[in-house]
Amino acid sequence: MVVDRFQNELKELGENMIATMFNACGVGLAAPQVGVLLRAIVVDPALGKNVNSEPIIMVNPEIKETGTEIFDEEGCLSLPGLYSYFPRPEKIVVSYLDLEGNSCIYETKGMVARVVLHEIDHLNGKLFWNRLSILNRLWLKFMFHRKNLS
Ligand SMILES: [Zn+2]
Repeated sequence: MVVDRFQNELKELGENMIATMFNACGVGLAAPQVGVLLRAIVVDPALGKNVNSEPIIMVNPEIKETGTEIFDEEGCLSLPGLYSYFPRPEKIVVSYLDLEGNSCIYETKGMVARVVLHEIDHLNGKLFWNRLSILNRLWLKFMFHRKNLS
């Protein structure tokens, strides 16, 4: 569902998502993860390394440009304990609306870009799991079961 109304409820949702993200020690969160089917995400540009950082709330985010892909590690609050190493674009340009409905452009790279891409995947019903090769998924399953048994 595309967000086209900017009301107090949206601000509350943003605050709720930021609180949920920080409580879970996450660096990003998508509205569907808190049971709200809206195209909204939050991202902590300090990646949890600065308690005073201002998370960015993006409504209707859209990737406009991407750079070459690089490998890095990624996990998800919806898949606790699972991490995998796979490629995503190193740099991105994303357009979005802020909570007042203003059009914004955000350019970022490295892990913050990865977080934005990860959260936008959630809006499209995808988990990082869906981006892995079959071999990679089997390995992850094996590691996960082993971890749970030990
Ligand atoms: Zn996730």
